[in-house]
Amino acid sequence: MKKGNTSRKSGVTRRDFLRNAGTGLMAVEMAGVSTGKATEPANSDSAVHFTPTGGLIQISPNLYLLRDTCNVYALRDGSRTILIDFGSGHILNLLGNIGVSKVDAVLHTHHHRDQCQGDARAVAERIPIFVPEHERHFFEDAETYWRTRRVFHQYYVCNDFFTVTRNIPVGGVLRDYDTYRWGPYSFAIHPTPGHTLGSVSLIGAVDGKKVAFSGDLIHSPGKVANLYELQYQYGSTDGVDCAIFALTRMREQGPELICPSHGDPFNQTEQGLADLIGKLRGWFTAYSGGGALTVDNKPYAVTPHLVASYQTTSSSYALISDSGKALFVDYGSASGNFFSSYNTPAPVHDRMGFVEHTLPELKSRFGLKSVDVIMPSHMHDDHLNGFPHLVRHHGAKVWCYENMVDVLQNPRGYNLGCILAEPIKIDRSFRNGETFKWEEFEFQVFHSPGHTEYQMAMFVTIDGARVAFTGDAFFPTGSPDSLLRHNLIFRNWVENDSHVKSIRTILEHEPNVVAPGHGKPFLSNKADLEILKGRLEDQQKYFFSVIADPDCNFGLNPSWVRFYPYQLRIKAGSSCDVALHVRNYRSAPMHLEAALVLPPGWKAASEVFELTIPPGQDSSTGCSVSVPEDWDRNKPRVALAADIRVDGAYLGQIAECVADIEYST
Ligand SMILES: [Zn+2]
Ligand SMILES: [Zn+2]
Ligand SMILES: [Zn+2]
Repeated sequence: MKKGNTSRKSGVTRRDFLRNAGTGLMAVEMAGVSTGKATEPANSDSAVHFTPTGGLIQISPNLYLLRDTCNVYALRDGSRTILIDFGSGHILNLLGNIGVSKVDAVLHTHHHRDQCQGDARAVAERIPIFVPEHERHFFEDAETYWRTRRVFHQYYVCNDFFTVTRNIPVGGVLRDYDTYRWGPYSFAIHPTPGHTLGSVSLIGAVDGKKVAFSGDLIHSPGKVANLYELQYQYGSTDGVDCAIFALTRMREQGPELICPSHGDPFNQTEQGLADLIGKLRGWFTAYSGGGALTVDNKPYAVTPHLVASYQTTSSSYALISDSGKALFVDYGSASGNFFSSYNTPAPVHDRMGFVEHTLPELKSRFGLKSVDVIMPSHMHDDHLNGFPHLVRHHGAKVWCYENMVDVLQNPRGYNLGCILAEPIKIDRSFRNGETFKWEEFEFQVFHSPGHTEYQMAMFVTIDGARVAFTGDAFFPTGSPDSLLRHNLIFRNWVENDSHVKSIRTILEHEPNVVAPGHGKPFLSNKADLEILKGRLEDQQKYFFSVIADPDCNFGLNPSWVRFYPYQLRIKAGSSCDVALHVRNYRSAPMHLEAALVLPPGWKAASEVFELTIPPGQDSSTGCSVSVPEDWDRNKPRVALAADIRVDGAYLGQIAECVADIEYST
């Protein structure tokens, strides 16, 4: 029997029931009309069924409001307008009354259905829809969200369920910290996480007043529309922390008029924001279990020229020269909460969100004038998430250890732990052991594998102390038995001697102060480092004892044979090159044969390709693959594999990659 909408008790489908009741088509109509009146069948295909009752309200000469499912604001420039949020779209019927004949754009503050449920009408009328960059997927890929959003085993309790039910084509994005310009208006786009994580507020001058279109960050003076949107993880106060941060930044902007998505526009902004911040602080204090608010994080001076921010998700260090220029080592998310809140829902193709942090304090308290150079201790997103912002908005140059260059510039190339999706252009790189001078300081950089292959240890004398920036190589435990701990993540590229190499380098250079990737800097103690070295040597012995292959790196590194790039991008109807990179951990040459396993209809330029890799080295080979012109648009991301034989032994499909298929129209 074909599965239908079957009642468990009777085994009778709903359609059978209606047919058997002898009511035919009429019964279907009745079922669709809750009032019981025999009217037109309900058009359930439509996203809009009712009409708001009021008309346009003029707030100032060129600013209008319609109370719809949310507040819809129209900003006029002669006969043209832009709309902030859209509700049911009914406003399009009213704009003629105020002399508007053309809508140039709809700008959304966030992705909730009450903001955009009428967007299909804007699409039909060819009005471009702009959405917050970090919520783009909730609009144009909403159907994937609904296919993959788990309801069972729910501990991520964020109300992202308030997402539209159908995809909405996106005309452009509102990128955090950029400016949106239209006619005589320009609006700063502020990330204002809280009510939703990717929410933005638009702040700019309208009719001589500084106006903030704030979405649902604040409802009215001292009030939010609801508290449930301010909880993302089970039992947490995470969204409250985000909202306090966003409200505080909003307050610093000093808007004269706040135009919220629900509630009335209001002028008492300073008092209204302060009241709400105060109330939310009270909630956080009562229910966070003693946690610290992100907005209260404060950098501190380790030495006169070295300032540490350790409450940020990874520790971020500012070496501030006498000139006021700074060299940063790492600059990630504003706090552990911001990192995990932004990380959990980050979509497949994009980077997680970011808010600027610590710069105001570094300027006002520590004499920072500019961020000249930024360097990652290693390639992990929790240490890098702020780099694109510092490059784009503060003109920072990026320097790094040489093996990180390609990972940062081509993040789609790799399948490693913790990659930041946004490419970062590198201005300068350093070899193992290379020294360089920046301002009055001299540095020496070394390869420091273990936590990840792509990590440096950097030594520099600051205010008489020999400081080592060690990334995530090891951390203090606070326990008297084992003072330092390390970690091991196989996906980060680990070989049997990686950790041992790293600790030896650090011991050799005898730092006085260790500045770790998480937590506060601490005084270095040779005896503790020696104990850690002993443990890491034991770890190496353990690898050899437990892994079946005597060349045990094959059992540590899942990427010894790997595709490059790991995430292909390919246009339907065209071809692109894929490479297979192989590291030979044997002490003899390795002969490898590979055949691609492709989706139906795709073609590889060669059926089998072969490669001989010298012992202990990397080699690569590859071929081009082509995608049919009429590739199914419902399969925009697919997996490819390589079927592999090494020195006559058939290993099977031990390498894979994914491909995103793009279309010209
Ligand atoms: Zn909302
Ligand atoms: Zn880290
Ligand atoms: Zn790390």
